[in-house]
This record gives sequence, structure tokens and C-alpha cells, in this order.
Amino acid sequence: KAKESGRDTLRLFDDQMQQAVNERAQLEDELRHALEKDQFELFIQAQFNSDLTVIGAEALVRWRHPARGLVTPALFIGLAEQTGLILPIGRWVLKTACALLRRWDEHPVLRNVPLAINISALQLYQTDFVDQTLTTLRQTGADPNRLNLEITESLLLENIEVAITKMKQLREQGIRFSLDDFGTGYSSLSYLYRLPLDQLKIDQSFVRGSSTDADARAVTRGIISLGKNLELEVIAEGVEAPEQLSFLKESGCELFQGYYLSKPLPVAGFISLCEGGTTTTP
Ligand code: C2E
Ligand code: CA
Ligand code: CA
Repeated sequence: KAKESGRDTLRLFDDQMQQAVNERAQLEDELRHALEKDQFELFIQAQFNSDLTVIGAEALVRWRHPARGLVTPALFIGLAEQTGLILPIGRWVLKTACALLRRWDEHPVLRNVPLAINISALQLYQTDFVDQTLTTLRQTGADPNRLNLEITESLLLENIEVAITKMKQLREQGIRFSLDDFGTGYSSLSYLYRLPLDQLKIDQSFVRGSSTDADARAVTRGIISLGKNLELEVIAEGVEAPEQLSFLKESGCELFQGYYLSKPLPVAGFISLCEGGTTTTP
């Protein structure tokens, strides 16, 4: 009551805070039930080589909310990580991606397309992560050689020795690893060469910056040559414009992902893209 009398700014602020807390609690409650209600969906974004042929894809989770519509992961992955819900969600993503890979085995074009999924820190550091992953591959019958796990630098730094051990165990079975958002984390170059990696993913911010900013171009070129010298594949993500694509090609980058080539699509849309149907490919 005292607050209400005349101190509008403060009261407004409190209301907003309270509203944010309520909204978060509601979102958390809804997220908790989203799995059992089967509200998650995988969108697939194609990855291309220099000939603009699809050579791979990344699975990106979406939450089909009955009232909010299609919710992007930016709005719920953080919350899922804070609440531990990322563990069951991550298991669902893994299982669904493996089931897709298995189905694609029968398809003349898709049978060679590897699929990447994003792995959160909490998932990797679970004690049974290796076992869980290999069991899912066995149960679905998916080819481990076509599963790619994307992890971020900051994730690895938490406990680098444990991360290396687990990555090696999975890699022995044919699973590939990609370092996501490269260049935005702590970039400890001293451990980069120790990690059992297959691919570096240049972060979108450098690709975006390359249109206007000479420093971003320099960093991008540096990442490409670093990756090549470490004998890693280098893929650029967030390619939105033709001049970005040509800059990346000129700089020696050979793999690309981004809206300019294809947006993340529902599975059926991705399949028709690969079959040469309706595409957003230039
Ligand atoms: P990310 O792994 O860096 O994924 C790339 C994000 O950039 C995706 O956003 C994608 O839709 C978007 N993107 C692709 N091309 C372009 C482009 O040309 N321009 C722009 N501006 N954006 C582009 P999305 O799908 O919203 O995912 C956001 C983040 O959420 C992902 O970033 C990833 O960190 C996380 N995420 C998504 N799916 C999963 C998942 O299954 N598990 C976990 N743990 N995290 C996930
Ligand atoms: Ca990713
Ligand atoms: Ca990324």
C-alpha cells in the first residue's frame, strides 16, 4: 500500500518483476509437461558444400505450444538447462534424430546425409551419457557414422579430461564431434588440438560481421586456416547473403549453413529440398 501511494516507477518495476516471475513459472510448468504431451518437434537445416549440394544437416528442436505457437529454442533451452529438463528433452532429441537417420537409410538421396544434434553441458557430463547414446543408436538401428554431436567450447572447459574421455569413447564407435559457436567461448587454443574433434563451426557473428567489418573477416580467415591446419572440417553457419558465401569460399571455407541457402525446415520440407523439390536454394 505504501509503495502504491505515489511511487509509480517502483511499483511498475515490481509488477514487471512479478509478471516475469509468474511467466517463468508458468513456462517451466508447461515445459515440464511438453514431453508427455508430445509437443516437441525437430526442424532440419541443410548444410551445403561449395557446389551447393546438401552434404549434411542440423536438427534444431522446436516446441509446438498449443497457445504460443512454435516456440524457438532461444526461449526455452536456457530454462530447460536451469531446471534439468534438458536431460529428458535431450534424450528425446537423440532418440528422434536416430529414428530419422534410420528411416533415411531407405532413401536414395538421404541415406548418405549425416545429422548433427546439439548437446548441452549437463547431458555430456551425465555419468551414463556414452552408454545412453550407444544404446539409443543400437535400439533405433541408426548408423553411428552419420551422427554428429555439436558441443560448445564453454561446455568442454568445465571438466576437460572427462569430456575428452567421453568424446573418445563415442568417437571409437564412429560418432563425429563438431565444436559449435567457435570463437565466442574462451578459445583456449592450447586444448583445441587435444580434443577429439572432426569439425569447427565458425560462429554466426563472424559470418554476419564479414559483410561490413574487416576485423570479422580477419578472424574468419584465421579460424578457417586454424581448422585446416588442425585437419578439421570447417563449416560456416549463419550465411545470410551471397557476398558472405563468396567471401567464405574465397577464404577456403568449403561447408556452409544459413538462411541464404536454406532455413531450418520441418522434416518433410527438408526431404523435398534434398529431392530437388521446392527449395530456397539460389
Ligand atoms: P545453434 O546450435 O548455434 O543453432 C543455429 C541457430 O541459428 C538456429 O537457431 C538456426 O535456426 C539459426 N540460423 C541458422 N541459419 C541462420 C542464418 O542464416 N541467420 C540467422 N540469423 N540465424 C540462423 P535456433 O533453431 O533458434 O536455435 C538456437 C539455439 O538453441 C541453437 O543454436 C542451440 O544452441 C540451441 N538448440 C537448438 N536445438 C537444440 C537441441 O536440440 N538441444 C540443445 N541442447 N540445444 C538446442
Ligand atoms: Ca548447433
Ligand atoms: Ca552455432
